[in-house]
Amino acid sequence: MNGKNPDIVPYDDRCWSCRKREATKLCDFINGTVWNSKDFQTRQNTCDLPICEKCAVNIAEEFDFCPKCAEKARKKLGVSAK
Ligand SMILES: [Zn+2]
Ligand SMILES: [Zn+2]
Repeated sequence: MNGKNPDIVPYDDRCWSCRKREATKLCDFINGTVWNSKDFQTRQNTCDLPICEKCAVNIAEEFDFCPKCAEKARKKLGVSAK
């Protein structure tokens, strides 16, 4: 015993959606592009919400979206929710 309970996930590491499990993924949904005045580059601004394996919605095999963005993506793509 080292006084630490491994079942308790630090608040900052928790999934944004269920707030219980450890977030192992970040939402890949692109919110838009941001222009950086330092290097004059335009880059994609992703949602980046931390989500756990269970809450992540896998779209097109390679993207993991948070439930909120998955909803947006479905509407955008015209894919009906399951
Ligand atoms: Zn979760
Ligand atoms: Zn998201």
